[in-house]
Amino acid sequence: MKFADLHMHTSFSDGTFSPEEMVANGQRHGLSAMALTDHDTVEGCARMNEACGKLGIEFINGTELTAELDGIELHLLAYFVDIQNQKLLVEIAEFQRVRQERIYEMVARINKLNVPLQAEAVFKIANCRSPGRPHVGRALVQGGFCVNMDEAFDRFLKKHRPAYVPKAKMSALHGIELIHGAGGLAVMAHPALNQSDNIIPKLVDAGVDGIECFHTKHSPADSKHYLGIASRYNLLITGGSDCHGMSKGRPLMGTVKIDYMYVEKMKAAVADRRAKKGNGEPAVSSPANPPSAVGHPQ
Ligand SMILES: [Zn+2]
Ligand SMILES: [Zn+2]
Repeated sequence: MKFADLHMHTSFSDGTFSPEEMVANGQRHGLSAMALTDHDTVEGCARMNEACGKLGIEFINGTELTAELDGIELHLLAYFVDIQNQKLLVEIAEFQRVRQERIYEMVARINKLNVPLQAEAVFKIANCRSPGRPHVGRALVQGGFCVNMDEAFDRFLKKHRPAYVPKAKMSALHGIELIHGAGGLAVMAHPALNQSDNIIPKLVDAGVDGIECFHTKHSPADSKHYLGIASRYNLLITGGSDCHGMSKGRPLMGTVKIDYMYVEKMKAAVADRRAKKGNGEPAVSSPANPPSAVGHPQ
C-alpha cells in the first residue's frame, strides 16, 4: 500500500526543517507522495521537488492561505498550483508584506510590557518571507524572555493575550478563485479546528474541491464526520500531518498517512479541470462515485 502526507511546513514558513530534511523524514516514514503547504509562499517547492525527485517520492506543489468567510477564519490548502502563476505570486507577496508588518506590531506590543525584544531578532530567526507567531516565540525563548514556546504563547502570543495580532485574511471565495486560476485544487484545511460546518455549503458553492478529513488534530470521530461531508458534497478527500519540524515540540510527520488513492483522485480532478479549460492536456477519466473506503490515519 502507498501512502501520502499532504500537509507540512518547512523553514520557508513556520516550520524548522529545510525542504531536504522534510523529504528525508518523509522517506523514513515510507511516503510515496508529499505536498508542501507553507503559509503564503511557494518558495520552498522547487527545492522540495528536487529532493523528492532524488528519492523517488512524488511531489505536489502547494501552499496554505488564511481566508475568511462570514467572519470565520479558515485555512485553504492549494494543491497542484502552477508556482510561476503571476497572479498567485503577486497576491501572496502582498500577504508576506503584511506578515512582516504584523511582526513589528507584535514586537511593539511586547515592548510595551517592558520586554525588550527586537524585531530584527525575530526576522533573523525567521529568515523567510512568511514570518509568523512561532518565530516571535522562538525569539522570545532565545532572548531569554521566556523559558519555552508554551510560555511565549501563553503569556504573549495566543489569542486574547496582549501581543496577539490577527493574521490578514483573504475572502475564501477569492482564495478559491486564485487557486483555480493557478490551475490548482482548493481544499478546506482541518475543518474540525474551525468548528463551523455551516460555512461548508457556501465553500462548496464557491467551488471548493476538497476537504482535509485526516489531520493530526482530528480525532477518528472528526475524520469520520468529514468523510461523511465529503461524500455528501462529492468533495475530494485529503489529509496530512501539518508537520512543522521541531516547531511544535516534535515532528508530526508520520502521524497522518493517507492512502495514495486519494492523491490519484486529486490528479484526475486536476486533469479534468485542465481539459475543460481546453489547454490541450488530455482529460483523465475520474471516478465520479464518492469514496467509500475509510482511510486510516497512522
Ligand atoms: Zn492551518
Ligand atoms: Zn498547516
